[in-house]
Amino acid sequence: MKQSCYNTAMQKISKTSVPPLIDPFERAITYLRVSVTDRCDFRCVYCMSEDMSFLPKAEVLTLEELDQACSTFVRLGVRKLRLTGGEPLVRRNIMWLVHRLGRHLDSGALDELTVTTNGSQLEKHAAGLAEAGVKRINVSLDTLQKDKFSHITRWGNFDKVMRGIDAAVSAGLSIKINCVALKDFNDDEIHDMVTWCGERGFDLTFIEVMPMGDIGNETRLDQYWPLSMLRADLRRRWTLTETDFRTGGPARYWRIEETGGRIGFITPLTHNFCESCNRVRLTCTGTLYMCLGQHDRAELRNALRDKTFPCTLEAAIREAISRKPEGHDFSVDRRREVIPIDRHMSVTGG
Ligand code: SAM
Ligand code: SF4
Repeated sequence: MKQSCYNTAMQKISKTSVPPLIDPFERAITYLRVSVTDRCDFRCVYCMSEDMSFLPKAEVLTLEELDQACSTFVRLGVRKLRLTGGEPLVRRNIMWLVHRLGRHLDSGALDELTVTTNGSQLEKHAAGLAEAGVKRINVSLDTLQKDKFSHITRWGNFDKVMRGIDAAVSAGLSIKINCVALKDFNDDEIHDMVTWCGERGFDLTFIEVMPMGDIGNETRLDQYWPLSMLRADLRRRWTLTETDFRTGGPARYWRIEETGGRIGFITPLTHNFCESCNRVRLTCTGTLYMCLGQHDRAELRNALRDKTFPCTLEAAIREAISRKPEGHDFSVDRRREVIPIDRHMSVTGG
């Protein structure tokens, strides 16, 4: 696998004279996720505490700096960009960045520009995303019940999200629903979710809760529901056929024969997907995380901002990739919760 991934990346990148980003385990880095803001208009209970402190605004990269960072990664062989957050669509003037990055789709340097969103701002922005060249988006939705939605997101408006999803469909965007599997919360809704996604033509991915950041009074041991159990429940009702479809991410996909819909499972705690990892994550303050589940990072902000900084942005990126670890160290202890990663998912964007 490693060798074919490497070869494909080399073929695509050899059209340019710039050496590609290859990590110490011969994985080509072709996917960048960018958290454009760590702020959010929701407070999902598994993601954040209600009372969050956010990164200082002075440290947050401007949209022009984000464009420069993303464009440098594209020049170095990144073929897929995902804007995420926090909630990416609450960042002021975010559509400027989306349109600006769209030029790399037009030039053929980028295969895909996409967004992960909670859907709250889609009513306003879905058409603009499509105009900029976005074809597919991920929308996070953990329940189809309004009262449960209010509970899990704390601040979210279910009807607004539904209108946003409708707007995205009208704009021609393909939708994948991301649903975090939560014990005693949505374990009774998985069949409804499969039916709803099947009827609407949406792909569906279930995600296991990951131990990232302090979430106040909630504990993730209470929330953790292994996807092996969820999948067993699904099999009691649906016929799942494994497919070789991949989106470049860690999810493996099955087809639900009864609906024709595709269903994916992201199981970072029970299944190691690191061997094919092609991605790195940039925060809104210019910190590059080479692995979602490790502490090691590289600070790119000085190379971006300070013209007298001794190292170019390209050199800083290459040095960071040379430190990409082989895999993550997540774990949820059965008796005692372990929180190995002290940053929230909203900082690195998942
Ligand atoms: N706000 C956007 C959204 O919710 O889609 C984008 C950022 S959010 C951090 C990205 C994804 O991470 C969402 O699908 C969310 O459900 C998931 N997520 C957040 N915290 C998580 C955690 N601790 N474990 C697993 N998934 C998590
Ligand atoms: Fe916000 Fe997304 Fe985290 Fe929910 S999961 S609080 S929408 S960043």
